[in-house]
Amino acid sequence: MFTHEKSKALKEEANKTILGGVNSPSRSYKAVGDGAPIVMDRAEGAYFYDVDGNRYIDYLGAYGPIITGHGHPRIHEAIAEQSSKGILYGTPTTLEIDFAKKIQEAIPSLERVRFVNSGTEAVMTTIRVARAYTGRNKIIKFEGCYHGHSDLVLVAAGSGPSQLGTPDSAGVPQGVAEDVITVPFNNIEDFKTAIDHFGDEIAAVLVEPIVGNFGIVEPFEGFLEEVNQVAHDNGSLVIYDEVITAFRFMYGGAQNLLNVEPDLTAMGKIIGGGTPIGAYGGRLDIMENVAPLGPAYQAGTMAGNPLSMAAGLACLEILEKPGVYDKLDHLGKMLEDGITELINKYEVKASINRLAGALTIYFTDKKVTDYNMAEESDGEIFSKFFNGLIHRGINIAPSKYEAWFITTEHTEDDIKETLSIVEEVFKNDL
Ligand code: PLP
Repeated sequence: MFTHEKSKALKEEANKTILGGVNSPSRSYKAVGDGAPIVMDRAEGAYFYDVDGNRYIDYLGAYGPIITGHGHPRIHEAIAEQSSKGILYGTPTTLEIDFAKKIQEAIPSLERVRFVNSGTEAVMTTIRVARAYTGRNKIIKFEGCYHGHSDLVLVAAGSGPSQLGTPDSAGVPQGVAEDVITVPFNNIEDFKTAIDHFGDEIAAVLVEPIVGNFGIVEPFEGFLEEVNQVAHDNGSLVIYDEVITAFRFMYGGAQNLLNVEPDLTAMGKIIGGGTPIGAYGGRLDIMENVAPLGPAYQAGTMAGNPLSMAAGLACLEILEKPGVYDKLDHLGKMLEDGITELINKYEVKASINRLAGALTIYFTDKKVTDYNMAEESDGEIFSKFFNGLIHRGINIAPSKYEAWFITTEHTEDDIKETLSIVEEVFKNDL
């Protein structure tokens, strides 16, 4: 079993300067026993090495962006080459035009694109643009979907589909929450009730087309098509939050995979090749509302910065090669099948959702299709599972709501090693 003495000492040190010791709350181990978060020293390919000298197989993938493994040489070279030519210009570059073209070719609904710096910014701006276009204020979103930390999307469900939301975070004004209605994912009836009730107040419906934030959850067949139809009949726009899903399951978005088209799309994570990025785009007549062409304002000192453009381009060039997603799917299936076998062998109450190289293990025997079911999965068993893995060399997110992400650098041997560690944890720790 690994020891984490240096990480423990650094937790004390970090707490003296960084609020809560972490720069994003999801990095704390609060949900899994509040131990010291492992402090990583370096990362290479599929592996992490911590400050105590332990080596981990990494399935966190930095919460999604690292699909080509850590420090991929091609991305490293692209960043180094660009940095030798200047880091930030504040002017247009050919790189950003090339990159926009590449994304547009892969996701045709993006008639126009804008680059920003995070998924939060991308989603926040799509909502502003939808409001500007429709002249309406309210949005509908789905329970458990995370859309970044802007005020409007930090709102929890009211008590029914015709109820307004309540702030999910201190500091979000009630007035903002009153513009948000939250309904359960995969529940078309509640969605229709919300649309019927609020009618022409609804500017847009915001949805992760394949959920990544209460684990990997696919939409029921026809769900997204019906959401589109009902929203459009109501004069509302449809926004897909593809911050996790863009280039995750195929070269393109979940919208390509599922063959459904939104009006606007927000992206981030993978498209930056590991650097800070966000992007949004969609129908030309809607995007024309954005400054400098239209009255909806969005700007950014770092937007389209050359390092992110270069890293993103290199990342997509790696991902577009034949066989990449087949490999992710193959390794994902191997992991899913192996863990399923162990679940049966050790009679663990657990189920798995997987799509290509992304999967979630829920400690419940039910197939998870919405947030309530994910919430009902056993957090205490997850906590034991997490701690068992992290003390034996497997790094996953410290939350029962997150996914495991396989990268192009993982190998069959990594999966075999992972399965033997999962077996040890099932046998000894749960
Ligand atoms: N949208 C989704 C679906 C996300 O998963 C996230 C982050 O996890 C965001 C938006 C926010 O992105 P960022 O953390 O880059 O601001």
